[in-house]
Amino acid sequence: MDTIRLEDVKNYVGQEVRIGAWLRNKRGSGKLQFLQLRDGTAFMQAVVVKAEVGDEIFAKAKELKQETSMYLVGTIKEDTRSDFGYEMDVNDLVVVGASEGYPITPKEHGTDFLMDHRHLYLRHIQPFAVLRIRNTMIAATYEFFNKEGFIKIDAPFLTGSAPEGTTELFSTEYFETEAYLSQTGQLYAEAGAMAFGKVFTFGPTFRAEKSKTRRHLTEFWMIEPEMAWMDQAASLEVQERYIAYLINAVLERNSYELDLLGRDKELLASYTKLPYPRVSYDEAIKLLQENNFDVEWGVDFGSPEETFLANHFASPVFITNFPKEIKAFYMKRHPTRDDVVISADLLAPEGYGEIIGGSERDTDYEYLAERVKAEGLDMDEYAWYLDLRKYGSVPHSGFGLGLERAVTWITGEEHIREAIPFPRTMTRLRP
Ligand code: ATP
Ligand code: MG
Ligand code: MG
Ligand code: MG
Repeated sequence: MDTIRLEDVKNYVGQEVRIGAWLRNKRGSGKLQFLQLRDGTAFMQAVVVKAEVGDEIFAKAKELKQETSMYLVGTIKEDTRSDFGYEMDVNDLVVVGASEGYPITPKEHGTDFLMDHRHLYLRHIQPFAVLRIRNTMIAATYEFFNKEGFIKIDAPFLTGSAPEGTTELFSTEYFETEAYLSQTGQLYAEAGAMAFGKVFTFGPTFRAEKSKTRRHLTEFWMIEPEMAWMDQAASLEVQERYIAYLINAVLERNSYELDLLGRDKELLASYTKLPYPRVSYDEAIKLLQENNFDVEWGVDFGSPEETFLANHFASPVFITNFPKEIKAFYMKRHPTRDDVVISADLLAPEGYGEIIGGSERDTDYEYLAERVKAEGLDMDEYAWYLDLRKYGSVPHSGFGLGLERAVTWITGEEHIREAIPFPRTMTRLRP
């Protein structure tokens, strides 16, 4: 007999099938046992009736401990009382792997405890739902960029340079010299765009974030598209189409998971309405000041400002043209102002803050060489990057989306550590 996955039992109503599952919980009496099961694709209840299975199988069912793995043979029935909609009437039960003293009991546990047991906690409802949605967003990312004519190139994770500033840099011994863990693949993506037109990188990114916020990990995954022959306006359109594509994919494929998390699907659907508002940094500062924020022109936004701005528009919102001083050296100068650069951050509503940062890139060799020097960066490390401006430089734009930021927002989680299988933060390196 084939083993059926729980997500497929809907196709077997009234039939006898075999499933392979783990026990989450059970309750019952001397005559009846209700087994709460999971198999990684869904959660379902199975019912063991002593009068039907006989003493021996019933005794086995009564002995089962949390996380015991087993094969169950039984008949699938509709069950309108459960969210899942189906249950199994068990005819036979074979234990595969015993389990004793599983530490994560159905009672409440603190966050540290759950994170210390992350290797086991992955089996529970919340990580199940969040990480399956994350998987959809990864698949949808490849779909979207492939459809739009991008090719994926991979940037190295070991580098000799630090384009996002040296304060958040991890370094490691590299034979006779020192290497850094990549903070962004962007400069490499630019080389890729000059070679292939439209490219994206998608890989782990490392930043020694010393602040303990609910939005920062020290290791996160970033998607960095880079597009030759495209200005910033065109890039913003790609960005909003991409976000809408991600949300639609999750709404279509993860309805069950969104329900498990209690996420408001109508609210999510409202974020697929395009275009998103474009608000200049100047206007944003004014708006914040009018609403009693103590901010001066020139500061970068923190969480309170980002939360206010996106909630104000009840939509993801692009904040455009940031001050040059708070942005990376490669961002394109504004044509009529020398204090701002052609950049935009996409802020998500509901307090999730910056999801995307992007810009048009400056194309001028002399200007960029000066900026590299002014930032105190090592010219030798950037010579290859500046080369891109020497041989057929063209207008180009790009952006970076933090996967876990987007997952946290779309799943409605409170903390970014939930959005990655094994989170890394200042205080967490294991499991
Ligand atoms: P923030 O202002 O929130 O610190 P940033 O401006 O430093 O972010 P960028 O360098 O613009 O970040 O990186 C692009 C994207 O990567 C961000 O918009 C965000 O989605 C994500 N990101 C940045 N830092 C982190 C981090 N430490 N953990 C998770 N995601 C991050
Ligand atoms: Mg940062
Ligand atoms: Mg930022
Ligand atoms: Mg940014």
